[in-house]
Amino acid sequence: MTELRQSVLKTPAPKKLRNVKEVPFVELYGGRVQGVVRSGSDEDRVYVCFVEAGTGNHACNTNNNRPCSQNYFCKHRLGMLSEAMEHYGAERVARYLNAPGEYTSELSSSELFARFPNAQIFRGSAPNVFSRFLSYLRYVELQASLDPMPEMSWFIAG
Ligand SMILES: [Zn+2]
Repeated sequence: MTELRQSVLKTPAPKKLRNVKEVPFVELYGGRVQGVVRSGSDEDRVYVCFVEAGTGNHACNTNNNRPCSQNYFCKHRLGMLSEAMEHYGAERVARYLNAPGEYTSELSSSELFARFPNAQIFRGSAPNVFSRFLSYLRYVELQASLDPMPEMSWFIAG
């Protein structure tokens, strides 16, 4: 048997398979839980959402920077947060957001969001979220390799 010598970043296994059809991209990055969520009504549209650590301030815009028609914490934001909690674990996401209260694995996305009663809607675009998603997509076209690729740690294999 040949010993494989490689350097691979260990990431916690998701609790269950991610729903990449509805939420193709989610990450904890730059003090935000952020991601891309598919539109339920238009298959050519996606929503770019984030929730900011510390404040709970949040945003939801289309990839063309049009604001989401739902004014409060919409199903896109909630869906993105739920997927982040499925992927990274509820405790880790709550800790990353610096949410008040205890961090438990049973925490739901709506309960987590309710811990930020003063959260405001962010009225600007967040173009880096969608461009980060697009830059990750280029990895899909690369040849498979056993070499480490830390940027792929969010991506589902198998
Ligand atoms: Zn929305």
